[in-house]
Amino acid sequence: MGKVTLVGAGPGDPGLLTIKGRQAIADADVIVYDRLVGPEILALMPEKAECIDVGKQSNHHPVPQWRINEILLEKAQEGKRVVRLKGGDCFLFGRGGEELELLAQHGIPFEVIPGITSALSVPAYAGIPVTHRDFTSSVHIITGHAKAGSRLDLDFDALVRHKGTLVFLMSVASTPMILDGLMQAGMPQDMPAAMIERGTLPGQRKLVAQVGTLAQRMKEEGISSPAILIVGSVCALSDGFDWFDTLPLHGVTVAVTRPKARAGTLTDRLRGLGADVISYPCIETQTIWPNMPVVEALASLDQYQWLVLTSPAGVEVLAQLLDAAEMDMRNLAHMKIAVIGAGTAKKLKEHGLRADYVPAVYDSVHLAEGLIRLVQEGERVLMLRAEIGTPELPELLAQACVAFDDVPVYRTLYQNGRSAEMAQLLAQGAVDVVTFTSASTVHGFVESLPEGTDLTGFTALCIGPSTEKAAKAAGMRTLTAANATIDAMLTTLQEEYTK
Ligand code: SAH
Repeated sequence: MGKVTLVGAGPGDPGLLTIKGRQAIADADVIVYDRLVGPEILALMPEKAECIDVGKQSNHHPVPQWRINEILLEKAQEGKRVVRLKGGDCFLFGRGGEELELLAQHGIPFEVIPGITSALSVPAYAGIPVTHRDFTSSVHIITGHAKAGSRLDLDFDALVRHKGTLVFLMSVASTPMILDGLMQAGMPQDMPAAMIERGTLPGQRKLVAQVGTLAQRMKEEGISSPAILIVGSVCALSDGFDWFDTLPLHGVTVAVTRPKARAGTLTDRLRGLGADVISYPCIETQTIWPNMPVVEALASLDQYQWLVLTSPAGVEVLAQLLDAAEMDMRNLAHMKIAVIGAGTAKKLKEHGLRADYVPAVYDSVHLAEGLIRLVQEGERVLMLRAEIGTPELPELLAQACVAFDDVPVYRTLYQNGRSAEMAQLLAQGAVDVVTFTSASTVHGFVESLPEGTDLTGFTALCIGPSTEKAAKAAGMRTLTAANATIDAMLTTLQEEYTK
């Protein structure tokens, strides 16, 4: 028999999904999800899973609740592992209870994985502690949703009397009514109040005002759902405790073009700095196979004293090729290994090997200079590279009469399924920065877009000089890292935005 797992996805920041929730998503056969689940969490849904969007807009229910309940039941009866993914926590204004009733009646096993509720986390991201011993000793979470056509049914006298922090969900439309109700029940007009829109997400907006002024401010700023209203003296702490809006890249939209498999660290770290990251992988590496030159080179490794690798992808492909030839890293024991930079050296280390040579400046010219100095007469170099590698490396080695074989082991494919979306974002000026970690990512990016796309509206953040050259040639405005590492790229970008 199948099983249904209610999973609270948290308020939107993908880092606030629980470990258990993430595991349930990864294991699911069917995922039934809502509008409030953040895009980055939706991106975690496994390809094999059937994903059903039952997203609810206010006053507009594409899939009615009774039907959602039925879908959960039907899928579980088919023997599927069903995840019901909901924004925030499943049981706080999440109808989790209603969804379990039908399952319980039919004896379907279920599990509940609580989520981080927006009611507590959104204030936290706005620098508002919902309780504080100097200000208040309770917090009340209230729905501001009024059934269509009817008035809010709230006991304002009781809310004011408790003197606790008040957190209203689903309250964008009813905020003026709520604030009036509180003032009529005796709450002072200058009581601090705050409205937070799209909390914990890169586009978070925060308004801090007073009970008497907030409704007007909201109108001026055009606040829309999802947003929460917080009323209470703790709201006054918001400016002093603001840590999210003040992150160095808050409000900056960055497109990351690295291949999916390698984008992780850069994406996570950009997010950590507050950036809104759009994942836009436009190249993919494909091992060249069958590949006679590589078969021959691997069969006669003893004629080489040096191995040269110029990208992390090259290291991965080497491991694959050795394995396919029923060999392993021990077959390289007699060789010295030179790599182009820290990223390649790190990848090599993951395979248990140390690079013998990494140039101080991570580019092919410096790598060539180092090799010319180090390779002794009579020694031979094996370079395993991309099909279209930079020409400088072989040219410089040939000029210096270093003996080498340049064997292409992988090719770069340009592809992206989201190019229409990207072209539109660029046309709207909605992308501030595009990151490029190799010249091939620049080519892949340009190739992915319709001809004639304006490439001057964003900053191309480049890892090093040859990437910069490619970006400049494509007409982009560039910003280049001081040395060719992800760390340096991030430092350069932060400096640019904190100038
Ligand atoms: N179960 C959810 C709440 C569902 S009700 C939870 O625990 O968070 C939907 C309301 O939640 C929205 O109208 C809004 O008031 C609030 N909300 C959810 N996500 C939000 C976010 N990222 N920022 C601001 N408010 C949010």
